[in-house]
Amino acid sequence: MKTIIEPFRIKSVEPIQFTTREERIKILEEAHYNLFLVHSDHVLIDLLTDSGTSAMSSRQWAGIMQGDESYAGSPSFFRFEHAVRSITQMPFIIPTHQGRAAEKIIFSILGGKGKYFISNTLFDTTRANIEYSGATGIDLVCEEGKHPLIPAPFKGNMDVAKLEKTIEEIGAEHIPLVIVTVTNNSGGGQPVSMQNIKEVREVCKAYNIPMFIDACRFAENAYFIKQRELGYADKSIQEIACEMFSYADGCTMSAKKDAFANIGGFLALHNEALATECRNLLIITEGFPTYGGMAGRDLEAIAIGLEEVMDEHYLHYRVRSMEYLTEKLTNAGVPVMQPAGGHAVYLDAKSFLPHIPSSAYPGQALACALFIEGGVRSVEIGSLMFGKYDNDKQLIPATLELVRLAIPRRVYTQSHIDYVAEVIIEVFQNRNTITGLRIVEEAPLLRHFTAKLATLS
Ligand SMILES: *Cc1c(COP(=O)(O)O)cnc(C)c1O
Repeated sequence: MKTIIEPFRIKSVEPIQFTTREERIKILEEAHYNLFLVHSDHVLIDLLTDSGTSAMSSRQWAGIMQGDESYAGSPSFFRFEHAVRSITQMPFIIPTHQGRAAEKIIFSILGGKGKYFISNTLFDTTRANIEYSGATGIDLVCEEGKHPLIPAPFKGNMDVAKLEKTIEEIGAEHIPLVIVTVTNNSGGGQPVSMQNIKEVREVCKAYNIPMFIDACRFAENAYFIKQRELGYADKSIQEIACEMFSYADGCTMSAKKDAFANIGGFLALHNEALATECRNLLIITEGFPTYGGMAGRDLEAIAIGLEEVMDEHYLHYRVRSMEYLTEKLTNAGVPVMQPAGGHAVYLDAKSFLPHIPSSAYPGQALACALFIEGGVRSVEIGSLMFGKYDNDKQLIPATLELVRLAIPRRVYTQSHIDYVAEVIIEVFQNRNTITGLRIVEEAPLLRHFTAKLATLS
Protein backbone atom coordinates (compact mmCIF):
# COMPACT_ATOMS: atom_id res chain seq x y z
CA MET A 1 0.00 0.00 0.00
CA LYS A 2 1.31 3.47 -0.88
CA THR A 3 1.64 6.37 1.57
CA ILE A 4 -1.67 8.08 2.29
CA ILE A 5 -0.95 11.66 1.28
CA GLU A 6 -2.48 15.01 2.19
CA PRO A 7 -5.30 15.31 -0.38
CA PHE A 8 -4.52 18.98 -1.14
CA ARG A 9 -1.67 21.22 -2.19
CA ILE A 10 -0.70 24.42 -0.41
CA LYS A 11 -1.44 27.81 -1.92
CA SER A 12 -0.90 30.13 1.03
CA VAL A 13 1.39 29.62 4.02
CA GLU A 14 1.71 31.06 7.53
CA PRO A 15 5.08 31.13 9.30
CA ILE A 16 5.27 29.43 12.70
CA GLN A 17 7.21 30.92 15.62
CA PHE A 18 10.26 29.29 17.15
CA THR A 19 11.22 29.84 20.80
CA THR A 20 14.00 28.44 23.01
CA ARG A 21 13.46 26.11 25.95
CA GLU A 22 14.46 28.89 28.38
CA GLU A 23 11.96 31.26 26.79
CA ARG A 24 9.21 28.65 27.06
CA ILE A 25 9.87 28.03 30.76
CA LYS A 26 9.40 31.75 31.35
CA ILE A 27 6.34 31.97 29.08
CA LEU A 28 4.68 29.13 30.97
CA GLU A 29 5.44 30.68 34.34
CA GLU A 30 3.91 33.96 33.19
CA ALA A 31 0.85 32.06 31.92
CA HIS A 32 0.39 30.45 35.37
CA TYR A 33 0.88 26.95 33.90
CA ASN A 34 -2.34 27.32 31.94
CA LEU A 35 -1.77 26.81 28.21
CA PHE A 36 -4.98 28.71 27.40
CA LEU A 37 -3.19 31.80 28.76
CA VAL A 38 -0.15 31.40 26.47
CA HIS A 39 -0.07 33.73 23.45
CA SER A 40 -0.39 31.65 20.29
CA ASP A 41 2.63 33.29 18.67
CA HIS A 42 4.69 31.63 21.38
CA VAL A 43 3.44 28.20 20.26
CA LEU A 44 5.30 26.22 17.60
CA ILE A 45 2.77 23.45 16.89
CA ASP A 46 -0.68 24.31 18.20
CA LEU A 47 -2.73 21.23 19.02
CA LEU A 48 -4.85 22.94 21.66
CA THR A 49 -7.99 22.36 19.63
CA ASP A 50 -9.33 21.40 16.23
CA SER A 51 -12.05 24.01 16.76
CA GLY A 52 -12.07 26.94 14.34
CA THR A 53 -8.48 26.16 13.37
CA SER A 54 -9.13 24.45 10.02
CA ALA A 55 -7.49 25.65 6.83
CA MET A 56 -10.27 26.75 4.50
CA SER A 57 -10.18 25.69 0.86
CA SER A 58 -9.84 28.02 -2.12
CA ARG A 59 -13.53 27.33 -2.77
CA GLN A 60 -14.43 28.44 0.74
CA TRP A 61 -12.37 31.63 0.39
CA ALA A 62 -14.16 32.30 -2.89
CA GLY A 63 -17.43 31.76 -1.01
CA ILE A 64 -16.33 34.31 1.59
CA MET A 65 -16.10 36.89 -1.20
CA GLN A 66 -19.57 35.95 -2.43
CA GLY A 67 -21.16 36.20 1.00
CA ASP A 68 -24.25 38.41 0.88
CA GLU A 69 -24.47 40.60 3.95
CA SER A 70 -28.16 41.52 3.68
CA TYR A 71 -29.79 41.69 7.09
CA ALA A 72 -32.79 39.59 6.12
CA GLY A 73 -33.25 36.88 3.49
CA SER A 74 -29.65 36.67 2.27
CA PRO A 75 -29.04 34.08 -0.48
CA SER A 76 -26.05 32.96 1.61
CA PHE A 77 -28.49 31.85 4.31
CA PHE A 78 -30.50 29.79 1.85
CA ARG A 79 -27.34 28.07 0.57
CA PHE A 80 -26.40 27.35 4.19
CA GLU A 81 -29.88 26.12 5.02
CA HIS A 82 -29.89 23.86 1.96
CA ALA A 83 -26.49 22.37 2.87
CA VAL A 84 -27.55 21.66 6.47
CA ARG A 85 -30.91 20.26 5.41
CA SER A 86 -29.42 17.95 2.83
CA ILE A 87 -27.45 16.24 5.62
CA THR A 88 -29.82 16.46 8.60
CA GLN A 89 -33.12 16.34 6.67
CA MET A 90 -34.50 18.56 9.41
CA PRO A 91 -36.92 21.30 8.34
CA PHE A 92 -35.99 24.00 10.86
CA ILE A 93 -32.42 25.29 10.59
CA ILE A 94 -31.31 27.97 13.04
CA PRO A 95 -27.89 29.61 12.56
CA THR A 96 -25.83 30.48 15.65
CA HIS A 97 -22.36 31.94 16.09
CA GLN A 98 -20.94 28.76 17.69
CA GLY A 99 -22.08 25.40 18.94
CA ARG A 100 -22.45 26.69 22.48
CA ALA A 101 -24.86 29.40 21.34
CA ALA A 102 -27.11 26.66 19.98
CA GLU A 103 -26.71 24.87 23.33
CA LYS A 104 -27.48 28.03 25.29
CA ILE A 105 -30.74 28.44 23.38
CA ILE A 106 -31.94 24.85 23.63
CA PHE A 107 -31.01 24.39 27.30
CA SER A 108 -32.48 27.76 28.32
CA ILE A 109 -35.76 26.47 26.93
CA LEU A 110 -35.63 22.81 27.99
CA GLY A 111 -33.38 23.01 31.06
CA GLY A 112 -33.91 24.28 34.59
CA LYS A 113 -33.85 22.96 38.13
CA GLY A 114 -34.95 19.35 38.53
CA LYS A 115 -34.26 18.46 34.87
CA TYR A 116 -31.75 15.83 33.74
CA PHE A 117 -29.95 15.50 30.41
CA ILE A 118 -28.41 12.14 29.60
CA SER A 119 -25.59 11.64 27.12
CA ASN A 120 -22.78 9.26 26.16
CA THR A 121 -20.48 12.10 27.25
CA LEU A 122 -21.43 15.77 27.34
CA PHE A 123 -18.83 18.13 25.94
CA ASP A 124 -17.63 20.75 28.45
CA THR A 125 -19.65 23.67 27.03
CA THR A 126 -22.73 21.44 26.73
CA ARG A 127 -22.45 20.38 30.35
CA ALA A 128 -21.82 23.99 31.42
CA ASN A 129 -24.92 25.23 29.59
CA ILE A 130 -27.01 22.45 31.15
CA GLU A 131 -25.70 23.23 34.64
CA TYR A 132 -26.04 26.99 34.13
CA SER A 133 -29.76 26.42 33.48
CA GLY A 134 -29.97 24.66 36.86
CA ALA A 135 -30.29 21.17 35.33
CA THR A 136 -28.02 18.14 35.76
CA GLY A 137 -25.97 16.38 33.09
CA ILE A 138 -25.38 12.62 33.23
CA ASP A 139 -22.75 10.75 31.18
CA LEU A 140 -23.41 7.09 30.42
CA VAL A 141 -20.62 6.03 28.09
CA CYS A 142 -20.21 2.28 27.56
CA GLU A 143 -17.72 0.31 29.67
CA GLU A 144 -15.13 0.08 26.83
CA GLY A 145 -15.09 3.88 26.70
CA LYS A 146 -13.70 4.03 30.22
CA HIS A 147 -10.50 2.13 29.46
CA PRO A 148 -8.27 4.29 27.30
CA LEU A 149 -5.64 1.66 26.57
CA ILE A 150 -8.00 -1.17 25.50
CA PRO A 151 -9.04 -0.95 21.83
CA ALA A 152 -12.66 -1.41 20.68
CA PRO A 153 -14.36 -0.19 17.49
CA PHE A 154 -17.07 2.02 19.02
CA LYS A 155 -15.89 3.28 22.37
CA GLY A 156 -18.13 6.34 22.08
CA ASN A 157 -21.31 4.25 22.43
CA MET A 158 -23.87 4.96 25.11
CA ASP A 159 -24.52 2.23 27.68
CA VAL A 160 -28.09 1.47 26.61
CA ALA A 161 -28.95 -0.72 29.62
CA LYS A 162 -27.80 2.04 31.97
CA LEU A 163 -29.77 4.57 29.94
CA GLU A 164 -32.95 2.60 30.50
CA LYS A 165 -32.21 2.09 34.18
CA THR A 166 -31.43 5.79 34.67
CA ILE A 167 -34.66 6.83 32.94
CA GLU A 168 -36.60 4.46 35.20
CA GLU A 169 -34.92 5.89 38.29
CA ILE A 170 -35.27 9.58 37.42
CA GLY A 171 -38.57 9.38 35.59
CA ALA A 172 -38.93 10.23 31.90
CA GLU A 173 -40.91 13.38 32.73
CA HIS A 174 -37.74 14.92 34.24
CA ILE A 175 -35.60 14.18 31.16
CA PRO A 176 -36.22 16.68 28.37
CA LEU A 177 -33.55 15.23 26.03
CA VAL A 178 -31.03 12.47 25.50
CA ILE A 179 -27.94 13.67 23.62
CA VAL A 180 -25.62 11.49 21.58
CA THR A 181 -22.26 13.17 20.94
CA VAL A 182 -20.65 12.03 17.66
CA THR A 183 -17.79 11.44 17.74
CA ASN A 184 -17.44 11.44 21.51
CA ASN A 185 -15.06 14.40 21.93
CA SER A 186 -14.47 14.28 25.68
CA GLY A 187 -14.36 10.48 25.55
CA GLY A 188 -11.42 10.47 23.15
CA GLY A 189 -12.95 11.29 19.76
CA GLN A 190 -14.27 7.73 19.69
CA PRO A 191 -17.13 6.92 17.33
CA VAL A 192 -20.69 5.86 18.08
CA SER A 193 -22.06 2.99 15.98
CA MET A 194 -25.25 3.22 13.94
CA GLN A 195 -26.52 0.25 15.92
CA ASN A 196 -26.04 2.20 19.16
CA ILE A 197 -27.73 5.33 17.78
CA LYS A 198 -30.68 3.12 16.77
CA GLU A 199 -30.86 1.44 20.18
CA VAL A 200 -30.74 4.78 22.01
CA ARG A 201 -33.47 5.97 19.68
CA GLU A 202 -35.64 2.96 20.53
CA VAL A 203 -35.29 3.54 24.28
CA CYS A 204 -36.04 7.26 23.87
CA LYS A 205 -39.09 6.43 21.78
CA ALA A 206 -40.38 3.98 24.37
CA TYR A 207 -40.21 6.69 27.04
CA ASN A 208 -41.26 9.50 24.72
CA ILE A 209 -38.02 11.45 25.22
CA PRO A 210 -36.61 13.32 22.22
CA MET A 211 -33.09 12.40 21.09
CA PHE A 212 -30.60 14.99 19.87
CA ILE A 213 -27.23 14.56 18.21
CA ASP A 214 -24.29 16.77 19.11
CA ALA A 215 -23.12 16.69 15.51
CA CYS A 216 -19.77 18.52 15.62
CA ARG A 217 -17.90 15.60 14.06
CA PHE A 218 -20.66 13.85 12.15
CA ALA A 219 -18.49 13.20 9.08
CA GLU A 220 -15.64 11.64 11.05
CA ASN A 221 -18.21 9.46 12.85
CA ALA A 222 -19.81 8.47 9.52
CA TYR A 223 -16.39 7.49 8.16
CA PHE A 224 -15.73 5.23 11.16
CA ILE A 225 -19.13 3.59 10.65
CA LYS A 226 -18.23 2.97 7.02
CA GLN A 227 -14.90 1.41 8.04
CA ARG A 228 -16.00 -0.58 11.05
CA GLU A 229 -19.70 -1.44 10.99
CA LEU A 230 -21.17 -4.30 9.03
CA GLY A 231 -23.32 -3.23 6.10
CA TYR A 232 -21.91 0.27 5.57
CA ALA A 233 -18.76 -0.33 3.50
CA ASP A 234 -20.50 0.46 0.21
CA LYS A 235 -22.55 3.43 1.43
CA SER A 236 -21.46 7.02 0.82
CA ILE A 237 -20.60 9.30 3.75
CA GLN A 238 -23.66 11.39 2.91
CA GLU A 239 -25.92 8.33 3.05
CA ILE A 240 -24.47 7.26 6.39
CA ALA A 241 -24.72 10.78 7.83
CA CYS A 242 -28.34 11.04 6.66
CA GLU A 243 -29.16 7.75 8.35
CA MET A 244 -27.53 8.90 11.61
CA PHE A 245 -29.60 12.08 11.61
CA SER A 246 -32.77 10.23 10.59
CA TYR A 247 -32.98 8.79 14.12
CA ALA A 248 -32.69 12.20 15.80
CA ASP A 249 -35.28 14.82 16.69
CA GLY A 250 -32.75 17.59 16.48
CA CYS A 251 -29.09 18.44 16.58
CA THR A 252 -26.63 21.09 17.69
CA MET A 253 -23.48 21.66 15.71
CA SER A 254 -20.32 23.69 15.92
CA ALA A 255 -19.31 24.56 12.36
CA LYS A 256 -15.80 25.12 13.73
CA LYS A 257 -15.25 21.36 13.56
CA ASP A 258 -16.48 19.28 10.61
CA ALA A 259 -17.62 22.27 8.54
CA PHE A 260 -14.03 23.59 8.16
CA ALA A 261 -15.18 27.06 9.21
CA ASN A 262 -13.38 29.40 11.59
CA ILE A 263 -16.64 30.34 13.31
CA GLY A 264 -20.29 29.30 13.24
CA GLY A 265 -22.81 26.74 14.29
CA PHE A 266 -26.44 25.77 14.10
CA LEU A 267 -29.42 24.14 15.69
CA ALA A 268 -31.59 21.90 13.50
CA LEU A 269 -35.00 20.65 14.57
CA HIS A 270 -38.06 18.68 13.52
CA ASN A 271 -40.42 20.21 16.07
CA GLU A 272 -41.98 23.43 14.78
CA ALA A 273 -43.21 24.73 18.14
CA LEU A 274 -39.77 24.25 19.67
CA ALA A 275 -38.16 25.89 16.63
CA THR A 276 -40.38 28.94 17.07
CA GLU A 277 -39.37 29.23 20.72
CA CYS A 278 -35.70 28.86 19.78
CA ARG A 279 -35.98 31.53 17.08
CA ASN A 280 -37.57 33.94 19.52
CA LEU A 281 -34.59 33.53 21.83
CA LEU A 282 -32.21 33.64 18.86
CA ILE A 283 -33.42 37.10 17.91
CA ILE A 284 -32.68 38.40 21.41
CA THR A 285 -29.27 36.77 21.84
CA GLU A 286 -27.82 36.02 18.38
CA GLY A 287 -29.57 37.85 15.57
CA PHE A 288 -32.26 37.63 12.92
CA PRO A 289 -33.11 34.01 11.90
CA THR A 290 -31.41 34.28 8.48
CA TYR A 291 -27.99 35.03 9.92
CA GLY A 292 -28.06 34.13 13.65
CA GLY A 293 -24.72 35.18 15.03
CA MET A 294 -22.89 35.00 11.73
CA ALA A 295 -21.93 37.13 8.76
CA GLY A 296 -23.23 36.12 5.33
CA ARG A 297 -19.68 35.10 4.37
CA ASP A 298 -19.54 32.63 7.27
CA LEU A 299 -22.76 31.02 6.07
CA GLU A 300 -21.14 30.51 2.62
CA ALA A 301 -17.95 29.03 4.10
CA ILE A 302 -20.01 26.58 6.16
CA ALA A 303 -22.22 25.54 3.25
CA ILE A 304 -19.14 24.71 1.17
CA GLY A 305 -17.28 23.12 4.09
CA LEU A 306 -20.14 20.74 4.84
CA GLU A 307 -19.87 19.44 1.29
CA GLU A 308 -16.08 19.16 1.34
CA VAL A 309 -15.91 17.29 4.64
CA MET A 310 -17.79 14.33 3.21
CA ASP A 311 -15.03 13.68 0.63
CA GLU A 312 -13.69 10.20 1.37
CA HIS A 313 -10.12 11.01 0.30
CA TYR A 314 -10.14 13.73 2.91
CA LEU A 315 -11.64 11.56 5.66
CA HIS A 316 -9.25 8.71 4.85
CA TYR A 317 -6.28 11.07 5.23
CA ARG A 318 -7.81 12.62 8.34
CA VAL A 319 -8.34 9.38 10.22
CA ARG A 320 -5.00 8.00 9.01
CA SER A 321 -3.20 11.07 10.45
CA MET A 322 -4.42 10.18 13.96
CA GLU A 323 -3.53 6.50 13.47
CA TYR A 324 -0.05 7.45 12.26
CA LEU A 325 0.78 9.45 15.38
CA THR A 326 -0.85 6.84 17.64
CA GLU A 327 1.27 4.07 16.05
CA LYS A 328 4.51 6.01 16.46
CA LEU A 329 3.80 6.63 20.14
CA THR A 330 2.60 3.09 20.81
CA ASN A 331 5.78 1.67 19.28
CA ALA A 332 7.81 3.81 21.70
CA GLY A 333 5.83 2.50 24.69
CA VAL A 334 3.92 5.75 25.32
CA PRO A 335 0.47 5.10 26.87
CA VAL A 336 -1.91 6.45 24.25
CA MET A 337 -5.62 5.92 23.78
CA GLN A 338 -6.44 2.93 21.58
CA PRO A 339 -7.63 3.02 18.91
CA ALA A 340 -6.88 6.51 17.56
CA GLY A 341 -9.81 8.96 17.70
CA GLY A 342 -11.15 10.94 14.76
CA HIS A 343 -9.77 14.38 15.50
CA ALA A 344 -7.15 13.92 18.18
CA VAL A 345 -4.62 11.68 19.86
CA TYR A 346 -5.03 11.26 23.61
CA LEU A 347 -2.21 10.49 26.01
CA ASP A 348 -3.17 8.61 29.16
CA ALA A 349 -1.60 10.84 31.80
CA LYS A 350 -2.47 8.45 34.65
CA SER A 351 -0.21 5.76 33.13
CA PHE A 352 2.29 8.27 31.74
CA LEU A 353 2.87 9.89 35.16
CA PRO A 354 1.85 7.28 37.76
CA HIS A 355 3.79 9.19 40.43
CA ILE A 356 1.42 12.20 40.19
CA PRO A 357 -2.02 11.73 41.87
CA SER A 358 -5.20 13.21 40.34
CA SER A 359 -5.17 15.93 43.00
CA ALA A 360 -1.90 17.21 41.48
CA TYR A 361 -3.33 17.28 37.93
CA PRO A 362 -1.10 14.83 36.00
CA GLY A 363 -2.69 15.77 32.66
CA GLN A 364 -1.92 19.44 33.12
CA ALA A 365 1.61 18.62 34.27
CA LEU A 366 2.14 16.56 31.11
CA ALA A 367 0.69 19.26 28.83
CA CYS A 368 3.09 21.78 30.40
CA ALA A 369 6.03 19.42 29.89
CA LEU A 370 5.22 19.02 26.17
CA PHE A 371 5.18 22.79 25.80
CA ILE A 372 8.52 23.24 27.53
CA GLU A 373 10.14 20.39 25.61
CA GLY A 374 9.02 21.31 22.11
CA GLY A 375 6.65 24.29 22.01
CA VAL A 376 3.74 21.88 21.41
CA ARG A 377 0.44 23.06 22.88
CA SER A 378 -2.10 20.42 23.92
CA VAL A 379 -4.99 20.44 26.38
CA GLU A 380 -5.71 18.58 29.59
CA ILE A 381 -8.97 16.63 29.60
CA GLY A 382 -9.04 15.38 33.15
CA SER A 383 -9.50 16.63 36.66
CA LEU A 384 -8.65 20.24 35.82
CA MET A 385 -11.40 20.31 33.17
CA PHE A 386 -13.96 18.02 34.83
CA GLY A 387 -12.98 17.81 38.51
CA LYS A 388 -15.62 18.82 41.07
CA TYR A 389 -15.52 19.46 44.79
CA ASP A 390 -17.50 17.62 47.43
CA ASN A 391 -19.08 19.38 50.41
CA ASP A 392 -15.74 19.35 52.26
CA LYS A 393 -14.00 21.10 49.31
CA GLN A 394 -12.18 17.85 48.49
CA LEU A 395 -11.54 17.18 44.80
CA ILE A 396 -13.73 14.58 43.13
CA PRO A 397 -11.40 13.64 40.27
CA ALA A 398 -12.48 12.98 36.67
CA THR A 399 -12.71 9.33 35.54
CA LEU A 400 -9.85 9.76 33.08
CA GLU A 401 -6.73 11.92 33.12
CA LEU A 402 -6.05 12.60 29.46
CA VAL A 403 -3.98 15.01 27.41
CA ARG A 404 -5.52 15.72 24.05
CA LEU A 405 -3.47 16.57 20.98
CA ALA A 406 -6.18 17.84 18.64
CA ILE A 407 -5.11 18.03 15.03
CA PRO A 408 -6.44 21.07 13.13
CA ARG A 409 -7.97 20.06 9.80
CA ARG A 410 -5.76 20.40 6.68
CA VAL A 411 -3.17 22.49 8.59
CA TYR A 412 -0.11 20.44 9.55
CA THR A 413 1.95 18.08 7.37
CA GLN A 414 3.48 14.71 8.15
CA SER A 415 6.81 16.23 9.22
CA HIS A 416 5.05 18.41 11.78
CA ILE A 417 3.46 15.26 13.19
CA ASP A 418 6.83 13.46 13.20
CA TYR A 419 8.24 16.33 15.24
CA VAL A 420 5.33 16.11 17.72
CA ALA A 421 5.99 12.37 18.16
CA GLU A 422 9.67 13.08 18.87
CA VAL A 423 8.77 15.66 21.53
CA ILE A 424 6.32 13.31 23.28
CA ILE A 425 8.78 10.41 23.24
CA GLU A 426 11.51 12.60 24.70
CA VAL A 427 9.19 13.76 27.50
CA PHE A 428 8.22 10.13 28.10
CA GLN A 429 11.85 9.13 28.54
CA ASN A 430 12.29 11.89 31.15
CA ARG A 431 8.86 11.47 32.78
CA ASN A 432 10.24 10.90 36.28
CA THR A 433 11.43 14.52 36.43
CA ILE A 434 7.90 15.92 35.96
CA THR A 435 6.14 17.24 39.07
CA GLY A 436 2.49 17.98 39.83
CA LEU A 437 0.55 21.25 40.02
CA ARG A 438 -1.95 22.94 42.32
CA ILE A 439 -4.70 25.44 41.55
CA VAL A 440 -4.17 28.96 42.86
CA GLU A 441 -7.23 30.66 41.35
CA GLU A 442 -10.31 29.32 39.52
CA ALA A 443 -13.78 30.19 38.16
CA PRO A 444 -16.91 28.25 39.25
CA LEU A 445 -17.69 26.92 35.72
CA LEU A 446 -15.31 25.90 32.90
CA ARG A 447 -12.42 26.63 35.24
CA HIS A 448 -9.76 25.13 32.93
CA PHE A 449 -9.96 28.12 30.59
CA THR A 450 -8.83 30.70 33.14
CA ALA A 451 -7.45 28.83 36.18
CA LYS A 452 -4.06 29.88 37.51
CA LEU A 453 -1.77 27.09 38.69
CA ALA A 454 1.60 26.72 40.39
CA THR A 455 4.15 23.90 40.59
CA LEU A 456 4.12 21.74 43.70
CA SER A 457 7.86 21.25 44.17
C1 LIG B 1 -16.75 22.25 20.19
C2 LIG B 1 -17.86 21.45 20.67
C3 LIG B 1 -19.03 22.06 21.15
C4 LIG B 1 -19.18 23.56 21.31
O1 LIG B 1 -18.99 24.25 20.11
P1 LIG B 1 -18.35 25.73 20.09
O2 LIG B 1 -18.43 26.12 18.66
O3 LIG B 1 -16.95 25.61 20.59
O4 LIG B 1 -19.17 26.59 20.97
C5 LIG B 1 -20.06 21.23 21.55
N1 LIG B 1 -19.95 19.90 21.50
C6 LIG B 1 -18.83 19.28 21.05
C7 LIG B 1 -18.77 17.79 20.99
C8 LIG B 1 -17.75 20.04 20.63
O5 LIG B 1 -16.65 19.42 20.21
